[in-house]
Amino acid sequence: MSQITKSTCCYCGVGCGVLIEHDGTKVLNVSGDPDHPANLGRLCSKGSTLHLTGDSSARALYPELRLGKTLARSRTDWDTALDHASEQFAQVIAEHGPDSVAFYLSGQLLTEDYFAFNKLVRGLVGTNNVDSNSRLCMSSAVVGYKKALGADAPPCSYEDIEQSDCVLIIGSNMAFAHPVLFRRLEAAKAARPDMQLIVVDPRRTDTAELADIFLPIQPGTDVALCHGLLHILLWEGWIDRAFIETHTEGFDALKTLVRDYTPELVAEICGIKASDLHNVARLIGSTPSFLSLWCMGLNQSSCGTDKVGALINLHLATGQIGKPGSGPFSLTGQPNAMGGRETGTMASILPGHRDPKNAEHRAEVARFWGVDSLPENPGLTAIDLFQAIKDGKIKALWIACTNPAQSLPNQTLIHEALAACPFVVVQEAFTTSETVPYADLLLPAASWSEKEGSVTNSERRISHVRAAVPAPGEARPDWAIAVDFAKRLEQRLRANQPSLFPFQHAEEIFLEHAALTAGRDLDLSGLNYTVLDSQGPQQWPFPQGAAQGTARLYQDRQFATDNGKAKFMASAYEPTVERRDARYELSLMTGRLRDQWHGMTRTGTCARLFSHTEEAVLSLNPRELSRRNLSDGQLVSVKSRRGSLILPVKADDSLQMAQAFLPMHWGGRYLKALGINTLTLGDYDPYSQQPELKHSAITVKPV
Ligand code: SF4
Repeated sequence: MSQITKSTCCYCGVGCGVLIEHDGTKVLNVSGDPDHPANLGRLCSKGSTLHLTGDSSARALYPELRLGKTLARSRTDWDTALDHASEQFAQVIAEHGPDSVAFYLSGQLLTEDYFAFNKLVRGLVGTNNVDSNSRLCMSSAVVGYKKALGADAPPCSYEDIEQSDCVLIIGSNMAFAHPVLFRRLEAAKAARPDMQLIVVDPRRTDTAELADIFLPIQPGTDVALCHGLLHILLWEGWIDRAFIETHTEGFDALKTLVRDYTPELVAEICGIKASDLHNVARLIGSTPSFLSLWCMGLNQSSCGTDKVGALINLHLATGQIGKPGSGPFSLTGQPNAMGGRETGTMASILPGHRDPKNAEHRAEVARFWGVDSLPENPGLTAIDLFQAIKDGKIKALWIACTNPAQSLPNQTLIHEALAACPFVVVQEAFTTSETVPYADLLLPAASWSEKEGSVTNSERRISHVRAAVPAPGEARPDWAIAVDFAKRLEQRLRANQPSLFPFQHAEEIFLEHAALTAGRDLDLSGLNYTVLDSQGPQQWPFPQGAAQGTARLYQDRQFATDNGKAKFMASAYEPTVERRDARYELSLMTGRLRDQWHGMTRTGTCARLFSHTEEAVLSLNPRELSRRNLSDGQLVSVKSRRGSLILPVKADDSLQMAQAFLPMHWGGRYLKALGINTLTLGDYDPYSQQPELKHSAITVKPV
């Protein structure tokens, strides 16, 4: 007899609601939840095939342990596994200090998982060495929002897409990466043909096909583009002087900076027509409402924060923020990167959007948790963390729900680091993850449809995630594993004191997290699972006593800065770290396909999801192929300064000359090498530490 359980899709940050049809033991089908405000019943190809993915033969079912790097892991029980882990971690901490251990987590985790880990790392172990693959996803957006608006809070809602008169999509192939939201945009544009759509992307993507104006800029030139637009807005008087004077500061410095970004210069830098720049500026300067949407094309850059700031500048200069259909709106890559930010489970954040560099913030959290203090030493962010592991500074590493041996840039370094780390715990649902072979201890984790908790999507909307079926074998929810380990570790680190981890149920963790946000910009202290179940998914802030969530921020023009004023960011354009040159003459861009997710541990065994793209191919402009005497399907050696791969090439006229594109999904188990990210580089943004995954210089030779 089948039943229906409401939950959410586990893939992207749109956060679609799903109805899971199941018989209590296995998932039979998945459909869109018509009552969920994010998707109103729609699902994309990935969401609608959830029940066909997650190959059961690839699941991690039991804890496995090895007592030496050259030995094979063998099955063990949970008590032995977690006792051994706590002994190893306690020993390393005793000998080398708390900063000699580290935790690398994931935007795929639920909020409760994230919170439990953060309390374990900050409150018990006493280190800030906790980071997440969200470092690769949204950290430039986080810093950009904080610098400009005072808080890491996307100000808009999905309904702004339907209400906007002019939408700019920059650095996002939304049609593939956030398909259901793109369908909402398509429907809105069909219903209101006057809505103007501008798309900025080096590639003529499926998203660009819908554009009224498409600006095919050169990779990495977004800051110059935004400054050029602001130059024209100023010159033409298409700015909101009253808004600038009353609600912002720092405009004079920016005005001086953008004086040099003439349309002619910007057209040359970006490789576009000056007349197109004028047309876009005219649209932005004259539209009643202006919404911008962005994703990894801005964030994954060595100047990602500056890119985000330059885009937000356009909204502040025109007063297009805090009103319907207007505002800068980051599209979250992962389903719960937002939850990781809210719980502060990254090296650069504390719970409730607090700052680990702020002594009062540390003291607030320490008081709340009943511990003496929180650690002061800066934590290692993802790229620096793996360098520190390779350098021997990290002796014990815990990886949960992520696959750094596929997803981080400069894979040679990552694999060397994992091989060198004395003790590696991998908490994972699938044994096919490229990181699993490095595990000294493998802990089987529950996956989608098997555990309860909550997630926050791109529009700050929190959904209750429900379990429909039991996890296979002895797999357990991620938060439960973290809590069980923490209880054993506190026996060794703070024996005879009350446990910091009295949690029996996911909601108890949610309630502690919610209470810790009280009075903060994201205050969600009025939420619990009962409210989410009775009123449906809610947007924060939702403080105690609130009747409903908050759809749009800054409507009162009071920003989250010290003085309530938004701040313009005046940063000059900087080119990509690697430039094309005589040896590496092509710009490599990486990105998502329509039907695959991350490293394909879940989607890679569903035949239907390969009907759109079957294999990893390097796309080049057709003239680039003929210039090199290459033909479609021919194998080539693709080489960057860090590594090389053998791949087939494909003619693709969505690309410009001297550009190449590779899907990000294929890792080492498919390519018999270190995967796509053997080519990419680990240089990162100085403010967000987000690496420049979106651009590296390569060369291509026939094999
Ligand atoms: Fe899942 Fe994103 Fe597709 Fe929605 S748009 S069904 S959240 S992958």
